[in-house]
Amino acid sequence: MKHTSDYLIVGAGMAGEAAAQAIRSADGRASIVMLGAEAHPPYDRPPLSKALWKGGKVEDIWRPIDKARATVQLARRATRIDRAARIVHDDAGNGWQYGKLLLATGGAPRTLPFGEGFIHYRTYDDYLRLRKNVRPGARIAVIGGGFIGSEIAAAMAMNGCQTTMLFPGEAIGGHVYPTGLARSVTDYYREHGVDVRSGVTVSGGRADAAGATLELSDGSALQADAVVAGLGITPNVQLAQEAGLQLELGGVRVDAHLRTSDPHIYAAGDVAAFSAPALGRTLRVEHENAALTMGQRAGLCMTGQDAPYDELPFFYSDLFDLGYEAVGVLDARLETVEQWVTPFREGVVYYLEAGRVRGVLLWNVWDQIDAARALIADPGPFDAANVRGRLPVAG
Ligand SMILES: Cc1cc2nc3c(=O)[nH]c(=O)nc-3n(C[C@H](O)[C@H](O)[C@H](O)COP(=O)(O)OP(=O)(O)OC[C@H]3O[C@@H](n4cnc5c(N)ncnc54)[C@H](O)[C@@H]3O)c2cc1C
Repeated sequence: MKHTSDYLIVGAGMAGEAAAQAIRSADGRASIVMLGAEAHPPYDRPPLSKALWKGGKVEDIWRPIDKARATVQLARRATRIDRAARIVHDDAGNGWQYGKLLLATGGAPRTLPFGEGFIHYRTYDDYLRLRKNVRPGARIAVIGGGFIGSEIAAAMAMNGCQTTMLFPGEAIGGHVYPTGLARSVTDYYREHGVDVRSGVTVSGGRADAAGATLELSDGSALQADAVVAGLGITPNVQLAQEAGLQLELGGVRVDAHLRTSDPHIYAAGDVAAFSAPALGRTLRVEHENAALTMGQRAGLCMTGQDAPYDELPFFYSDLFDLGYEAVGVLDARLETVEQWVTPFREGVVYYLEAGRVRGVLLWNVWDQIDAARALIADPGPFDAANVRGRLPVAG
């Protein structure tokens, strides 16, 4: 069956929902259709690894999509874009003709190559699956020492689970934090009861309803009631790729107005590769702030407004009672300058490259995002001596 709408949004996630609201705010009469592969309406993903394990309520995660007065088709996957006819085909045999199309398809978690039964953590359904296994004393193995792995491991430990964390690097967040901070975080996890096994990879495994066994690179085996993997995501670019849209950094290339190489098609969120003028480079990030702001700007641009996405996204994480916000490129391979009020508990880390500040980590320091953005936009030149103290935290 063929349907027609002014605006078609593929992906009922955070960016898609923000775009729908922005379109509606700009155009009260437009027809908006949203296709979402998940069975659930748009929701916030960050609580899946944080608030919902600390007394947060499920009813608080849903985004207010009703306000956008869009036609939302759930459990419906877009399968192909016919750019010439401006029609998106779905897996139920429908054709959705559009005036403007937004690709807000996010990413799919990378998976372990050992068959079914492992939870590759990304969705509300993954949360429900894990929730069934969580009780005091349950053995939970968490694979991955990045954002998702470290948050889930903390959540499991806080819920009384026997939590084992496995990752190939030396320390939790080792790719992101300077060495001393990464080691301190790792110690902190051990103090909170997490069995942190660094320098370990998973070489084999199997899982079924009765539990899981993992074979580890150090020759040992690990039994668990559930295995959660946080191995990063692969952007969902299949539709864009098959339609011949320009790709970059593994995502869909967009211009400042979030338009792809086809002027009728936009992209936003985890799937979009955008220019970050403050950094002088293209970025693709997987952060809530980027998804919401890019989604909102894309929606406005689709209605013809001049609403470029021209800001650096920030992101945040909570690890037990440690928390941080950050802006720009956090890459532990860059030169890092640390400014602590209390070592590894409160302070700022500046990431320097070629005389510029490329990223700022605000560790238990709040309300400094805009100052950090301004510092990254400042041509400098900066070095270890003159960057210290640039943000107003003691140290
Ligand atoms: C557990 C967890 C915790 C997080 N915590 C933080 C945090 O603390 N801070 C932070 O900044 N960020 C965090 N993030 C990242 C943040 O949630 C993402 O950046 C954000 O969700 C991206 O939004 P999106 O709309 O681009 O993609 P998504 O929210 O992934 O939505 C994309 C949607 O598109 C659907 N889709 C894909 N292909 C198709 C298709 N062909 N047809 C129809 N639908 C399709 C998908 O099923 C999905 O529902 C977290 C993510 C997770 C998973």
